[in-house]
This record gives sequence, C-alpha cells and structure tokens, in this order.
Amino acid sequence: MAATPRGTSPVPPDARPRLTVLSGPSGVGKSTVVAHMRKEHPEVWLSVSATTRRPRPGEQHGVHYFFVSDEEMDKLIANGELLEWAEFAGNRYGTPRTAVLERLEAGEPVLLEIDLQGARQVRDSMPEARLVFLAPPSWDELVRRLTGRGTEPPEVIERRLAAARVELAAEPEFDQTLVNTSVEDVARELLALTNVV
Ligand code: ADP
Ligand code: 5GP
Repeated sequence: MAATPRGTSPVPPDARPRLTVLSGPSGVGKSTVVAHMRKEHPEVWLSVSATTRRPRPGEQHGVHYFFVSDEEMDKLIANGELLEWAEFAGNRYGTPRTAVLERLEAGEPVLLEIDLQGARQVRDSMPEARLVFLAPPSWDELVRRLTGRGTEPPEVIERRLAAARVELAAEPEFDQTLVNTSVEDVARELLALTNVV
C-alpha cells in the first residue's frame, strides 16, 4: 500500500463538516424536510436569511427569517454583509455572511436553504460547498403542494411557478438530486450529505 503523501490530512476530505446548499422550487418541501431533519439533529446549523418578504402567520423574526425593510436590505448589500443575495418572486433574500463563516470556522456543518441564483453565487465563491437539489415527484404534485400550502395569493403562486420552471431546468448544475416523495427519507438522505453521520 502506498504511503500517505506528506502533508495530507489523515481525514478524508469528504469526512469534514461542510457547507451544504439546499435548493429547489418553491413548494417542493425544503422547509418541511429541513425542519424534520433538525428536530432530531439540531447540530446541523441552518443559516437564517434576511428577507424583505412579509412574515407568514407563525413565522418569527430571527427564527425563520430576519424580516427587514427595503432600506435595511439595501444597507446589508452595500456593506457586503451578505454571502449571497437574490430577488425572488418580488422580494429580496440574502444570507448573512459572518454567521456562516464563523460556524464553518468552528467546524460545524452548515446548511443554507436558498434559491437557484443564490446557489450559483455560493458555488462560485465557495466551490467546496455541496449543492443539493430538491425535486418534486411531478409537476402536478409541485402545483398541489404550493397551492395547498395556502400562504400565497394566486398571482404570487403564478410567479413562483414561473420561477420553478427555470429552477427545474437547472437541476443538472447540482451535485446531487433528492426527490421529495417521503419527508422522512429525504431528511435522512440530506443528513447523510451534511456529513454529520
Ligand atoms: P418550500 O419550503 O420548498 O417552499 P414547504 O416545506 O413549505 O416548501 O412545503 C410546501 C407544502 O408541501 C407544505 O404544505 C408541506 O406540508 C407539503 N409537503 C412537503 N413535503 C411533502 C411530501 N413529501 N409529501 C406531501 N406534502 C409535502
Ligand atoms: P419563501 O418566501 O417561500 O420563504 O422563499 C422563497 C425562495 O427564497 C425559496 O426558494 C427560498 O429557498 C429562497 N431563499 C430563502 N432565503 C434565501 C437567501 O438567503 N438567499 C437566496 N438566494 N434565496 C433564499
């Protein structure tokens, strides 16, 4: 057996805690899967994004999002405080940079749940990130889930479905695809990809 080359770590690169990016069309079940996974594995740190979107019933500031004004978002962007940001279906969303870098520095697994444009920015700035695409079992099921959630008016659903067509076409850009048929199965697969187990 060949000797380990000098300077290489005894830990295979894939065993390191890493940055995982979860993307997929609105309504596919990203939040549901992540919540399910984190119930049993809260050690996977989920970045809390800033958004100009209004809170949905039950959403809490600092837990689900940092709900900010347009002016506050302008400042976050201008001051370079976001690792990535994007406009999605009429609102802006962005990942606070410092918190993510601190967690990675501390060796903790980090999960970002962001849209396609954000995933592309992270891929460019942090190529070691693992990009995971969550796909619906079918287009009709995606429409059913997005409509059935009952959180957006019809015109917003239309915008989100238009974005979904673009996002589904970009699936080959991702390192991995998980099909969200069973929340439990996908949560388990996602956990494995974050290298916690
Ligand atoms: P996203 O975060 O991707 O926008 P959500 O997590 O809000 O999506 O899920 C959208 C809707 O689909 C919710 O009503 C959720 O309960 C439902 N849902 C999520 N995963 C599944 C699944 N595997 N089977 C059936 N319904 C699901
Ligand atoms: P929602 O309004 O349904 O919570 O989110 C809409 C879309 O914005 C989803 O695709 C979600 O993943 C994405 N999103 C949430 N936070 C961020 C973020 O910080 N950056 C980017 N680029 N997208 C985000």
